[in-house]
Amino acid sequence: MGTNLRDLLAMAGTESVSAILMGGAAGTFLRADELDMQLTLEASRAADTTLGSGVVMVFAEGADLRDVVLRIAGFFRDESCGQCVPCRVGTVRQEEALHRIVKGATIGGTSRELALLDEVGVAMRDASICGLGQTAYAAVESAIKRLRLFEVVA
Ligand code: SF4
Repeated sequence: MGTNLRDLLAMAGTESVSAILMGGAAGTFLRADELDMQLTLEASRAADTTLGSGVVMVFAEGADLRDVVLRIAGFFRDESCGQCVPCRVGTVRQEEALHRIVKGATIGGTSRELALLDEVGVAMRDASICGLGQTAYAAVESAIKRLRLFEVVA
């Protein structure tokens, strides 16, 4: 706590960074140009991310980040217990939309799919009963808005 990400990664011997997932699957991605962030609750809040579980998952340049996001979406779909509708339906719809984008099989184009993902994600965050549904869109949202991971797909 208190050091910055750049120093932490240096201590770990990290040589190549394309993105960092803070806090695990329920956390958010940071870009490689955000390594000056201090590892404190205040700094992470200010940077609109989280320390969450304490996980700092580093992806090297060349990592297939779209596949990582698909796996995270699949994890939340698997782990949803089905008790409440926003999470039960939302995690499925989220994964479906991401697969359509990655396969280039969108319904109405990528922008429309991203808008759908945002609508579903906000509903999951605001209306799910527990933390699983409330955070099921967090990493996906940061991949979309912070990493711009899905922008180039038509
Ligand atoms: S938000 Fe929690 S309670 Fe609701 S379906 Fe998901 S895991 Fe179950």
